[in-house]
Amino acid sequence: MDRRKFIQSSVLGMIAASLPISFSSCGSATKKSATAGTGLKLSFEPYDLKLRHAFNLAKSSRTHTPDVLIQIEHDGIIGYGEASMPPYLGETTESVCKFLNRLDLAQFNDPFRLDEILEYVDSVAPNNRAAKASVDIALHDLLGKRMGQPWYKIWGYTPENTPSTSFTIGIDTAEVVKKKVEETAPYNVIKVKMGLDNDKELVEIIRSQTDKPICIDANQGWSSKEKALEMIEWLYDKNCLFVEQPMPKEMIDETAWLRERSKLPLVADEFLQRLPDVRRAYQAYDAINIKLMKSTGMREAHEMATLARGLGMKVMVGCMTETSCAISAAAQLAPISDWADLDGNLLIANDCFDGMKIVKGKITLSDKPGIGATPL
Ligand code: MG
Repeated sequence: MDRRKFIQSSVLGMIAASLPISFSSCGSATKKSATAGTGLKLSFEPYDLKLRHAFNLAKSSRTHTPDVLIQIEHDGIIGYGEASMPPYLGETTESVCKFLNRLDLAQFNDPFRLDEILEYVDSVAPNNRAAKASVDIALHDLLGKRMGQPWYKIWGYTPENTPSTSFTIGIDTAEVVKKKVEETAPYNVIKVKMGLDNDKELVEIIRSQTDKPICIDANQGWSSKEKALEMIEWLYDKNCLFVEQPMPKEMIDETAWLRERSKLPLVADEFLQRLPDVRRAYQAYDAINIKLMKSTGMREAHEMATLARGLGMKVMVGCMTETSCAISAAAQLAPISDWADLDGNLLIANDCFDGMKIVKGKITLSDKPGIGATPL
């Protein structure tokens, strides 16, 4: 994307709110942003996230993640949001732009009517969760700026209560894994992606270099409950914290069987997307991994965290590969999360926002209003 154009648009939007914001997208101009009047003005631009390392999962590998950066402007204030689209979630730059082009946010004059606006956004088309999240994040940013407060404060949370973030090591050869372990030096918790035949070897390599706690993400890679249990028994002795999505998401009964026997907590990730899924997850998992790109944004993510805690489940706040925009938005939930996996911005080489900082491995929240991110 043309970064200068994006920033210029932001500045233009601030000093001349009544002018149409000029950036176009996907071959189709953001027509709603040209609407005159006092309604919300939406504009957006595709942005290709370049990954520092090829990202290898049990079922895929990639070097880029498509992303769309969005802005919502109202009364001279701009809120920033983004949609990140890892291919396995089914959204693309085209589908996100198409969805955003369908929105008529100009009909809303009061950004504080979040319920009404987001219900409308959700009703425009099913799915499109990342696209919906981008609007939700930008609206939260806008509102927080209007109120002059960050969202963790608006929600009433204590910023000191944030967990450390884990830093992810993807599936790779022994040589590359060794090198990646060195890169985890600034972090207190390591997350390992699993699901191939050399899972144990990977953990042994890490353990030969560090004693830091390890979070295991099997990414649905273990297809038999007996194998999953055997792996968990082995991992338990290796100072691991939990196992995320040990088995395919459809295998609910098997996962419930596993939970009864597992010494490590089981975290639902691929199994769960939105609020109604929390109750389903309660049948088979100890915890949920909430991600804004799955939950449709901060509003529903917050509801999910509240419900999970009410059910006595643990909460993890996670992410996709994202810029510091969406990462900073997700970090607002860190004070009510038991675990955090907010390293998506650290895994990309072209972050275009300044936002949440990791200090001594721990998520730190600033006093910046809204989501706490500024375009670079
Ligand atoms: Mg996961």
